Amino acid sequence: MAVFSPHLLSRLDKAKFGKIRVWEFSFRSLFKEYAWLFLIKAVVAHPVKTARGIRRYRRIVRADKPSAPEYVRFHCLPEEADFLRSARARQPGPLIGLGFCLKPYDPEDPSRSCPSGRANHDCLYFERGETRPVCAGCAIYDIGRRALEAECPAYIMTSAKDIARDFMIPQISRDSFPAAILLLCPYSIQAIILPLLICGVQMTLLSYASGSCADYGQWLKADWGIKEERTTIDARSQERLLGLLGKLRPEDGGRVQSRGNRRFHRGGNIFYPSVYHPHK
Ligand code: SF4
Repeated sequence: MAVFSPHLLSRLDKAKFGKIRVWEFSFRSLFKEYAWLFLIKAVVAHPVKTARGIRRYRRIVRADKPSAPEYVRFHCLPEEADFLRSARARQPGPLIGLGFCLKPYDPEDPSRSCPSGRANHDCLYFERGETRPVCAGCAIYDIGRRALEAECPAYIMTSAKDIARDFMIPQISRDSFPAAILLLCPYSIQAIILPLLICGVQMTLLSYASGSCADYGQWLKADWGIKEERTTIDARSQERLLGLLGKLRPEDGGRVQSRGNRRFHRGGNIFYPSVYHPHK
């Protein structure tokens, strides 16, 4: 394995060797549980979808879309207008994936930390509609409210294994989440495009402006739930994301509108808007 040094693998990524840009991440993931879970339940179980996703991915890399620095902030596959058109035609809206690292966190002061804890899928507001003073400054609260108005399911993302189990495998097996808007670190964006394409997910990916993991070592620690830094998105990304959610609101997008108070209902680790709840 010494021949596959991280340096060599990152050079393969930079050179887009074989029209693939996830050599380093893939080799480092070889013996990890999340990789085997995805391999067995997605790749082996769905070879035709996998071949289609890989073909699409290689076409995208060949066309240099997205080219590395440009997708640091915002990336839509397909283009935003097409993403919106198909998302508006479906019920529920796209899955809104928010990293647990967006939660407020102060190890010295619990009142400045998320009351639901750190590296988990929980949120007091999503679960019970309740908030604490700290929630007012929380991006998950802000984006979650708009997701609810847009009748989109919300998901607080933790480990790669959970993301595979909660989102990707249900999608490739049952078409549960055909579209998603995900907030991720730039490093994860590079790694997640190929599995999302294999699963047939239309995606809008936004990356954090600060606090994000810069390399595999940091990413792996965060995957284990070790992440002290709080991530943020910048004002431009926030505006673009909220604009997108605004366009997905049933009132504006023509989807069926729920009656009565909107709220989330939990199904597994996903919070579904009241209009659509497969577990009710
Ligand atoms: S809105 Fe949710 S995630 Fe954010 S601080 Fe409150 S309980 Fe935690």
